[in-house]
Amino acid sequence: MEIISHYQLKYHNTFGISAFAKQFVSVHTIADLKEVLEQHKNEKLFIFGGGSNMLLTQDIDALVIHVDLKGTEVVWQDTETAHVKAMAGENWHEFVLYCIENNFGGLENLSLIPGNVGTTPIQNIGAYGTEIKDTFISCEAMDIETQQLITFTKEECEFAYRESVFKGRLKDKYIITSVVFGLTKTNHKINTSYGDIAAELTSKGIVIPTIKDVGAAITAIRKSKLPDPKELGNSGSFFKNPIITVEEFERAYLLHPTMPHYTLDESHVKVPAGWLIEQAGFKGKRFGDAGVHSKQSLVLVNYGNATGQEILDLSKNIQKTVLDTFGIAIEEEVNVI
Ligand SMILES: Cc1cc2nc3c(=O)[nH]c(=O)nc-3n(C[C@H](O)[C@H](O)[C@H](O)COP(=O)(O)OP(=O)(O)OC[C@H]3O[C@@H](n4cnc5c(N)ncnc54)[C@H](O)[C@@H]3O)c2cc1C
Repeated sequence: MEIISHYQLKYHNTFGISAFAKQFVSVHTIADLKEVLEQHKNEKLFIFGGGSNMLLTQDIDALVIHVDLKGTEVVWQDTETAHVKAMAGENWHEFVLYCIENNFGGLENLSLIPGNVGTTPIQNIGAYGTEIKDTFISCEAMDIETQQLITFTKEECEFAYRESVFKGRLKDKYIITSVVFGLTKTNHKINTSYGDIAAELTSKGIVIPTIKDVGAAITAIRKSKLPDPKELGNSGSFFKNPIITVEEFERAYLLHPTMPHYTLDESHVKVPAGWLIEQAGFKGKRFGDAGVHSKQSLVLVNYGNATGQEILDLSKNIQKTVLDTFGIAIEEEVNVI
């Protein structure tokens, strides 16, 4: 294992922000990970996956551990279900494609989300009416302090909307090394109810879609709507959709009666952050090299040489304007470093 000093992270984060790691190491085996943690006990560490959910606003004064563990295997199956395990460093979309090719259903709605498998439980990734928690069986994680491998069940992960125990109470305590998903082999639960999936399938003349059709439809929709980080630096949705109380919603709705909303339960309502940002006048706006995407207001972009601080300043400006306009606070989804 080679530990590299003063390592440029620009090509390791999808925002394409230039920032240096004090030290950087890629780990390819569990034994390597254990050794690095043992040798760097009590030092500052920072964990890196695909770099698609972080905004680097400064150099990282720590040893950056790039989790590059590889491997995929079926660990259990019967006639109807397969439990498929993937190591943390596997690319998420490639894993989804592997599952579709092998007729394992359940992940197809999460096609084309960037990043690695090991990071998916951290914010309970979700898209097109599906979240990782819907198929999650367990994950294995290494305790940074003791180097023990621990298995976390779904309940222990405390999944919620873009949240888990690893983002909350246990933040920076564990490194996820692998994840097991419970997937269907027959009677796939095809979910085309969300967004434009049904329309995309109809446009292709598909009446009874397979999991492969759904994955392809979602891939096409995402490509048409979201900027490709290889062409325009971004981290997907920069903000979470705010969940507010019914009372807060009613106050805002009285003044803004066209506000879209989804009732979650008796006392909570979810409001699309993209709509709030668009109404606040930010859609397509550019400030130097930092901007708001022209098709999707939830996505902040780096037109080339924006610094992390410039993107952060823009995000603060958006948060303040949305709060002043609607009385609704929007929180970052991206990890600001
Ligand atoms: C174009 C685009 C579209 C996106 N669309 C979606 C979407 O539809 N839905 C969605 O939920 N997300 C979406 N995202 C966000 C992102 O892809 C996911 O959150 C993804 O799971 C992040 O994975 P990563 O490996 O890149 O994480 P990283 O950015 O590398 O890390 C994220 C956080 O997890 C920590 N971490 C990384 N690996 C580990 C590990 N093995 N153990 C413990 N901690 C770790 C890091 O320290 C950091 O705090 C999108 C991003 C982009 C760029």
